[in-house]
Amino acid sequence: MHVIVIGAGIVGVSIAAGLAESGTRVTVLEQGHSGEGTTSTSYAWFNANGKEPPSYFALNAAGVQAHHELARDGAPWFFPGGHLEIAADEAHQRHLESRIARLRKHGYPVEEFDSERALQLVPDLRLPEDPRKVAFFPKEGHIFPLAYLDTMLNRARAAGAEIHTQAHVVAIEPSGAGAAVRTADGRSFEADTVVTAAGRWTEEIAALAGAHVPLAHFSEPGDATVGYLATTNPVSSSLDRVVTTPRLNVRPDSNGRLLLQALDLDAAADPNHTPPPDSALAEEYLRRLREALHGTEGAQVERLVVGQRVMPADGLTIAGPSVEQPWLYVVATHSGVTLAPLLGRAVTREVLGGHEPLLDDFRLSRFREGATLTAPPAPCRPGEQ
Ligand SMILES: Cc1cc2nc3c(=O)[nH]c(=O)nc-3n(C[C@H](O)[C@H](O)[C@H](O)COP(=O)(O)OP(=O)(O)OC[C@H]3O[C@@H](n4cnc5c(N)ncnc54)[C@H](O)[C@@H]3O)c2cc1C
Repeated sequence: MHVIVIGAGIVGVSIAAGLAESGTRVTVLEQGHSGEGTTSTSYAWFNANGKEPPSYFALNAAGVQAHHELARDGAPWFFPGGHLEIAADEAHQRHLESRIARLRKHGYPVEEFDSERALQLVPDLRLPEDPRKVAFFPKEGHIFPLAYLDTMLNRARAAGAEIHTQAHVVAIEPSGAGAAVRTADGRSFEADTVVTAAGRWTEEIAALAGAHVPLAHFSEPGDATVGYLATTNPVSSSLDRVVTTPRLNVRPDSNGRLLLQALDLDAAADPNHTPPPDSALAEEYLRRLREALHGTEGAQVERLVVGQRVMPADGLTIAGPSVEQPWLYVVATHSGVTLAPLLGRAVTREVLGGHEPLLDDFRLSRFREGATLTAPPAPCRPGEQ
């Protein structure tokens, strides 16, 4: 059996490694270089916190578990330090309390902390004088997505996968019981199955194969498909886990840098206009950082980016065969960092003829003509879910 995987982002590379390690012949076709899509602009926090409905929560909780299993006793891309969430006002407290109750019902680990324990965990934290509630989610954490990609690409190659970068897919046609895939430079590849993991380009790839896969695309600043990320210069902070407050999400990034996200500031995010690192917007991230952590007074923003989410039309994961073409398997998802190791295993199983019950609620058949679609919800700040 020969499988072509289109897209070498975190999802495609995980699937390629899974298939190759199961003994399948795999060819990956990537239009640019690996990781240059959404994977390079991700906050990369793995979690199932606040993910709804229950089947999407279950999928993400299995994704968190799959990260721990893949990294086992440690991996250079894996930072399982947990997530500390601080509620500073009554509304956030109420939301956090109801989320904790719901998560506990599902068996999702969460601990309630007082200020002293929070400060033991994050000594640099500037807690509000009277925090309304502090919760710790010990199974969550963050990854360095490009380091994860390197690891999985090496595993895929070691298991025999061929990885072609600068291989822009421009045509997909039925051929025998499978398909022929053509790239812009005139190469042609025959396969029994084509897996598209082309992120926010999925709709175009599916259309090449005569299939329909509805995704939400950027239409106006601040919609659900876009969000800023700010990276600081190296700072002398000892932060080693994800911290979320009502005004800022902050986590460590490479070489002493910090990665900042503030979902309310995303209201102006526009991929066609990225503010420079010395803009008023960058200064606002720094103000919030100084409010949240000691030792960040000298921090500067080195890089501000607008990330573009992979957003299926109803906000939920798509994973399954195309309705129109049985040889085409489609994967497209937000929360792709959380889900990548799980999808690597689950899609491998299904492409090889098995069935993964966790994916049952995420088939393309839900978009059948006449189906009512709910637009994807905009990402919420802690306390707003
Ligand atoms: C601001 C922001 C914050 C986020 N935070 C989190 C988070 O905290 N936790 C989490 O789990 N997720 C998060 N996400 C989502 C997560 O980053 C994505 O779901 C994930 O990176 C998607 O990976 P992917 O492999 O599907 O897509 P991509 O990384 O975009 O990969 C798709 C690849 O397909 C290639 N391709 C496209 N068209 C073609 C073609 N015609 N021929 C060949 N190749 C092609 C592209 O070049 C690209 O490399 C965030 C996203 C954003 C934008």
